[in-house]
Amino acid sequence: MSVLPAKKGRPKKQLYALSGLMAGNFCYALFIFWLTPEDSQLTTFIQMALIALTSALAFMVFYRYNKREMEMKKVVEDLSANDKLTGLPNRAKFSQVLHDQIGTGANHNPFALMLLDIDRFKELNTILGYKAADKLLLEFGARLTNYCQNKNNCARLSGNEFAVIVPYDGSGPDLETQMHRLFASLYKPYICDDKAVDITMSGGIALFPDDDLAANQLAKDAELALLRAKAQGHNTIFCYEETADEKIHEFQLLSHDMDRALREGEFKLFFQPQFSFDSGDQIGFEALIRWEHPEKGLVSPADFIPLAEKNGMIVPISEFVLMEACKTAATWVNPLRVGVNLSPVQFQQIDVAELTERALRETGLAPDRLELEVTESLFINISDGTADMLRRIQILGVSIALDDFGTGYSSLNYLNNFPFNKLKIDRSFVKDLAFDNGAMAIISAVIGMAKSLEMRITAEGIDNPEVMEILKIAGCHEAQGFLLGKPRDIREVPGIEMDAPQKALTA
Ligand code: C2E
Ligand code: MG
Ligand code: MG
Repeated sequence: MSVLPAKKGRPKKQLYALSGLMAGNFCYALFIFWLTPEDSQLTTFIQMALIALTSALAFMVFYRYNKREMEMKKVVEDLSANDKLTGLPNRAKFSQVLHDQIGTGANHNPFALMLLDIDRFKELNTILGYKAADKLLLEFGARLTNYCQNKNNCARLSGNEFAVIVPYDGSGPDLETQMHRLFASLYKPYICDDKAVDITMSGGIALFPDDDLAANQLAKDAELALLRAKAQGHNTIFCYEETADEKIHEFQLLSHDMDRALREGEFKLFFQPQFSFDSGDQIGFEALIRWEHPEKGLVSPADFIPLAEKNGMIVPISEFVLMEACKTAATWVNPLRVGVNLSPVQFQQIDVAELTERALRETGLAPDRLELEVTESLFINISDGTADMLRRIQILGVSIALDDFGTGYSSLNYLNNFPFNKLKIDRSFVKDLAFDNGAMAIISAVIGMAKSLEMRITAEGIDNPEVMEILKIAGCHEAQGFLLGKPRDIREVPGIEMDAPQKALTA
């Protein structure tokens, strides 16, 4: 939250000049009156009165004009300090209020700074329309004002983000009472165009003076707690917690760093081998991205891919992965296949079929050597556009694998509707196979179903020989896991891809 110094009023120079002129006129009139002989004093008096009257009139005209100007100025100042829709203070003004509230140290009345974010507001905008959504925001602002009594203790910081200062007596129970009172009002349905609309909110709370003594830091704490609440899902309010929120802060820094990292070539690919159960031969590699961070070392994709999906960097990062994987595979002596992971976000933002076609054309990789991995989440509300892209990718001769099968979507309908070439059973089912009968039953059912749909099956995450034996007997086609080979930088440790084919699994 930036802090803007309050602007002082313009000195009314003209007003002082005119008042001086009037006073001068008055003194001059008195002086003339005193000099004038008694017999012509009446005429002089009338002249003097006229001068005084003209001055007074000029003063009145000027005063009215100046007053109007000052009023206009106040309106402009109000507009720039307050949000136009709700009339609540905006970010800059609230920042000043927060500073004033904290004071210089003499005034240490405890309060909670709460940031509130109306959940799924974009969706509400689409469903209700902008006018009705504006009404909702207006009503939300009115309820905040009503709670605060003093309008300056709440603010609209941006589209659907509000802030409120909640005073309390420093004790937990009182804070709880205040929050109950506030939420009782904010959670009541909102009437928009004769419809009752229920909303949920995410919130972050920082306490003064317990969490921080400086206004800027307090605002940052509340912001971090809000980010953590939003990351948790919806309808959650969190209080600032140093350890948890510093982690969120780390993620934020990482998120801002991605653009630079991509430009400076910090992303690289590791490759994990995949084998055929039947022949024991290595048949391909899965390309897995790594971030070689100058300070943090090797960062796992599990940490930065979700961030990249949120901040939009997933599109250029994925393009880099696809290009790099195809380019690398095209140099292999052994014509092994390469698997590349795709993110559902890519399908919403670009034409993935067009990107795939370009990658093949520019690198010269044969289409049947590329396999694209998508996850089940892509099939929740799948659009016609996405289905069309998947079909066009298959028409190019590239195969499509369903990754992490069993971890996401509960409906299996999409398996019927889309002809995947392969299904990759997730590591969570594979890892306990030797000890868990339930996992065995699931895997047998999945293998039976995939075979009847004419899909190949890869088991991921095989890290012990017993599990591998069970999977082979159960009828899996391909294997991948630490037991057979960890992801590695193949430029540093070249292997089979540069040699003649070799057996890696015992037949
Ligand atoms: P995934 O696509 O399911 O990749 C398999 C993950 O399981 C890899 O983790 C791999 O190192 C790990 N793994 C394989 N075998 C074993 C095993 O035997 N034991 C254990 N403990 N782990 C095993 P990694 O490389 O950390 O990747 C994690 C996830 O990040 C990937 O899961 C994928 O969803 C995502 N990811 C990786 N690279 C990319 C990428 O280029 N683009 C996108 N969109 N996502 C990627
Ligand atoms: Mg994968
Ligand atoms: Mg997987």
